Amino acid sequence: MLKIIFLIIVLFIFITVYSFKKKIDGILDTLFPKQNSQNSKNGELEELVRCENCGTYIPKSSAVKKIRIRGDVLYFCSQKCKKEYKG
Ligand SMILES: [Zn+2]
Repeated sequence: MLKIIFLIIVLFIFITVYSFKKKIDGILDTLFPKQNSQNSKNGELEELVRCENCGTYIPKSSAVKKIRIRGDVLYFCSQKCKKEYKG
């Protein structure tokens, strides 16, 4: 008889700990969503520039740059647009 009571108590503790862990995991997921926060950060940091030749907007990091003698910087979406642009 004592064995059965002992087993029930162990089972009860196991279920309590398991449900508690699940609650903690749920709270952590809502507080720190892993993938979503990274994506929004990248979107905020990415600055868009306008291609001087065709007018397309491209991320500054992937734009082709051309520095004029006067010192101002022109941005192009591709090497093709950079060659085509006159001015
Ligand atoms: Zn272009």
